[in-house]
Amino acid sequence: MLASLLTGCPPGETPLRHVEQVPARPLASAAWPDWAAPELVAALAATGIAAPWPHQVEAAEHAWAGESVVIATGTASGKSLAYQLPMLSAVLADTRSRALYLSPTKALAADQHRVLTGLGLPGLRAATLDGDTPFEERDWIRQHANVVLSNPDLLHRTLLPQHQRYSSFLRRLRFVVIDECHHYRGLFGSHVSLVLRRLRRLCAVYGAAPVFVLASATSATPGQSAARLVGLPVRTVDSDRSPRGSRTFALWEPPLLLGGSQDAEQSGPIRRAAGSEAARLLADLVIAGARTLVFVRSRRSAELTSLAAKRHLVEAGAPELAERVAAYRGGYLAAERRALERSLTSGELLGVATTNALELGVDITGLDAVVLAGYPGTLASLWQQAGRAGRRGQDALVVFVARDDPLDTYLVNNPAAIFARPVEASVTDPANPHVLGPQLCCAAAELALTTADVELFGGPAAEPVLAALVEQGLLRRRPAGWFWTDRNRPSANLRGAGHPVTVVESASGSLLGTVDAGTAPATVHPAAVYLHQGSSFVVEELDLEHGAALVRPEEPPWTTCAQEITDIVILATEQSAMLDGVSVGFGAVEVSHQVVSFQRRRFSGELLDETPLDMPLQRLVTKAVWYTLDEASVAEAGLDQKDLPGALHAAEHAAIGLLPLFASCDRWDIGGVSTAQHPDTGRPTVFVYDGHPGGAGFAARGHAVLPDWLAATRAAIAGCECPAGCPSCIQSPKCGNGNNPLDKAGALLVLDAVLSRVISR
Ligand SMILES: [Zn+2]
Ligand SMILES: [Zn+2]
Repeated sequence: MLASLLTGCPPGETPLRHVEQVPARPLASAAWPDWAAPELVAALAATGIAAPWPHQVEAAEHAWAGESVVIATGTASGKSLAYQLPMLSAVLADTRSRALYLSPTKALAADQHRVLTGLGLPGLRAATLDGDTPFEERDWIRQHANVVLSNPDLLHRTLLPQHQRYSSFLRRLRFVVIDECHHYRGLFGSHVSLVLRRLRRLCAVYGAAPVFVLASATSATPGQSAARLVGLPVRTVDSDRSPRGSRTFALWEPPLLLGGSQDAEQSGPIRRAAGSEAARLLADLVIAGARTLVFVRSRRSAELTSLAAKRHLVEAGAPELAERVAAYRGGYLAAERRALERSLTSGELLGVATTNALELGVDITGLDAVVLAGYPGTLASLWQQAGRAGRRGQDALVVFVARDDPLDTYLVNNPAAIFARPVEASVTDPANPHVLGPQLCCAAAELALTTADVELFGGPAAEPVLAALVEQGLLRRRPAGWFWTDRNRPSANLRGAGHPVTVVESASGSLLGTVDAGTAPATVHPAAVYLHQGSSFVVEELDLEHGAALVRPEEPPWTTCAQEITDIVILATEQSAMLDGVSVGFGAVEVSHQVVSFQRRRFSGELLDETPLDMPLQRLVTKAVWYTLDEASVAEAGLDQKDLPGALHAAEHAAIGLLPLFASCDRWDIGGVSTAQHPDTGRPTVFVYDGHPGGAGFAARGHAVLPDWLAATRAAIAGCECPAGCPSCIQSPKCGNGNNPLDKAGALLVLDAVLSRVISR
């Protein structure tokens, strides 16, 4: 298959950067545990599972023995059996036992419900409980359901605040399953970790101590991440023993094109879009008879990729094949996904271009080829998507096509970062006071907090937060503990601090989503192009006072980018090191920024115009990592004073682009500031900060892995063959300064100066 792609390349193009052969893994099986319920074993056998794989049994045994456990293995490695075995055996052995299954999406919980009820087990009463469950049904669920499928939001908003009504459920709770637990990261993950501690506290009050079974994509330190998430020691099972066909994994970098517009000088070189490249690969693979899935980043590009592939097929004289290519553009309706699974499995469809909507909860494996148009954000997702390829006994092909982005550039030119490295850690920070504060209020409103509870909620980290809540009059300290005294329930938003701005479609009044109040001026200012699940909207009006942005569907041929003035002040240096003229620091900072205008740019990057905006000054107290250089090290590096601002700015952009390789964030979770003379350090300084109040652990992770992170940043810049900087290396789509000034050669000198100090240690 790879050979046919290479012969399909236009003359003169050499996009193939690396080929990795991932060997097949042979079949290994284990015996059913002797405690497994016989009717469950029989039901599983009826679905075609004759014997479990060793890693499934290993995880299930831990759970059955009362040890919380995380199973962190690849796609299609049967993680669900590892938690179904103990959870279902427990409720079948004693139908009064209860289990709670939590998933990050409603769709996944619905899928799991379908699987469980499909087993046809008498005695199993499984029910989904989410925001849409009617109240009459909730009564039945509270009293009778023995496996409840839900999500952390429902736990936070309904089940825990109404714990008295759910007391018999909590009293009998034996297992809590947390599926796809790598989704709980950053600020949201920190909130969820405290919601789980609230659950554990109330269970203990009712006399239960449930065992947690977590399922995760492969990750760098799954046991550590899981233990931080649930606040308990957690066993790790990560040796994947599921059988797998061999795979050929190709890294592909589309060629650099010169401008493409009359304005080539200004817009500079850009790469052929990953979507266009993927469309051609899709057409070639379909001609070769390969069942192929293409993952793209938005619904719009799913449609464009599918259309372009059809066009290639018609041009290649195969119009009948064009009809067997489709875009997956439905919402998340189970019926649509089932239909797609069926037509791909039957071979009726040969090629599908899809968003990552198909990444979770869809049973499509056994494809001949998977094409990833752009890095999906995390290595965990990359392996999840790549895992769709591979029929037993046959070699499958995976092609990763780089987008115009420093992280993609780095990956295709540094294969070891994909193939020889554990994936990024899921970072949470349950000690963040901005998360702890509202969560402690919620906990106290559920049941007064005792001194013994403080340990559960972070111990020393919680004490100053409790004192501050008492001072603000939110909690009252009495001899028996801390009490919530307000008649109203405390509010805590699991997905961000403050009151979010709701995004509403003006014609229909339907709610599209929410954005952080802090980022609203930059993302939903008037005339901003707002993308939602791959569809494009234009903002008509932003009302910050009432927290609403009105939008209309529209797909203009340009993007918008807010321009801001940003200042950063160091509030407290928590860690610092001075290394021969270069210093590295970490601590609390206050970032103030004000959106002053926005630019409209064509997709080629060409600037159309700039319009002033009148937006309020925003302040953010958060965590940052920074480095500085003194005058001597700047001179020694061969850097000219006048080139310094562009050099630091370029190094900052690329570093922001590469941090997601080490912490499971995306570049929108973090921000940066660079300056040739910072008032607090008195030196040229580059800051990278967490974009969430109080920090979410990303800057801390950057500080912890600084040498590796900056080395990767340097490699990404050096690996890009553009002459003076492009979106694949040092330009940023979210730059508040219109990507000006930027100095590619200077950035390499800055990074070399820092790396020569931090690496030699
Ligand atoms: Zn470049
Ligand atoms: Zn910038």
